Amino acid sequence: MQPVLKNKSDSSYAQPLLTLGVDLDAVAHNYLLLSGKMKTGADCGAVVKADAYGLGAPEIARALYARNCRHFFVATFDEGLLLRRALPKDALLYILHGPHGAEGADFISNDLIPVLNTLDDIAYWSQQGQRPSKQGQRPKALLHLDTGMNRLGLTEKEAHVAAEKDLLTALDLRYVLSHLACADDPAHPKNREQLDLFKKLAAAFGKPLRLSLANSGGIFLGEDYHFDLARPGAALYGLNPGPGPNPMRNVVTLKARILQQREITQKGTVGYGASRAVEPPAKLAAINIGYADGYLRHFSDHGTVVINGEKCPVAGRVSMDLIVADITHLKTPPGDWAEIIGPAHPADAAAAEAGTIGYEILTSLGKACKRTYIAS
Ligand SMILES: *Cc1c(COP(=O)(O)O)cnc(C)c1O
Repeated sequence: MQPVLKNKSDSSYAQPLLTLGVDLDAVAHNYLLLSGKMKTGADCGAVVKADAYGLGAPEIARALYARNCRHFFVATFDEGLLLRRALPKDALLYILHGPHGAEGADFISNDLIPVLNTLDDIAYWSQQGQRPSKQGQRPKALLHLDTGMNRLGLTEKEAHVAAEKDLLTALDLRYVLSHLACADDPAHPKNREQLDLFKKLAAAFGKPLRLSLANSGGIFLGEDYHFDLARPGAALYGLNPGPGPNPMRNVVTLKARILQQREITQKGTVGYGASRAVEPPAKLAAINIGYADGYLRHFSDHGTVVINGEKCPVAGRVSMDLIVADITHLKTPPGDWAEIIGPAHPADAAAAEAGTIGYEILTSLGKACKRTYIAS
């Protein structure tokens, strides 16, 4: 005898198992909100490194270009090349990690503008103008001054050397930038310290320079931090740029299929390592997402998913491509889907459960999940 299909319609079987929806209208909205906050005359660019924080650099950059964004920051030459092919010619593409990973001539022929981080970078890049084919044209560059990250950029001492020895004359210097360590915490005294040092170092060059300091959080620190160009990333993708309520619109919605539900009829445990005990009455749902999809294993016994608008805790360990959620408390039977990330449970909230930041949630999911784009 044929078993009778009890819980699902035939058509539900053909649905996808996992969808990472990226709302390009929300990205555009967030860009306009950020650029609208900039002081008069200052530009707002976009940081689209790491494949636009996992959301797809070509698609994101094209949506931003359509809203008149012209300054795009990526980490590497390869990322820059991908965008050069995706965007109209007048898009300005900056390579944060400097003139590494490809020949100088290839940077120049693709109009990729490196950020110079060291004195060696400056010397190397200045030579590019001396090639016979360049006829003395000065190569375009950005210069990075370190004001407290101790990561990339000239140290205070090196900045003074560059200024005193006039090391920038062979360059077509577009912007001088620095990066804030604590911009998401407006009360942190380091913000003001970095601002003051940035102004002091820039002044040491003794000529007018276009400056760029603010990332997402920096835009919200006020006009003192805006200078000529801002470089937001996270806030474009809906992450909260500060400690208060999030002013940005949600961009990412990750949904996974519920594959099976079960009623617990006797005492037992859930998943690998038997880390979570269950006893009746309890109901569990097995959901199609795991660490191979970029859903961090740190969510084991800590994560939350949303089913029928209600939060359900992840029960037991995250498997390679499955999790189990406790749905005992649901008042209505769950449908086919669990929302893993979305308006009801944003990336920032999920990050807190896994002991990380929204940036890591987005980049790890974006790398592993197939993305679909929503745009009007
Ligand atoms: C990543 C990055 C940004 C963007 O920072 P968000 O916090 O994502 O806004 C800006 N500037 C530099 C140098 C960066 O590396």
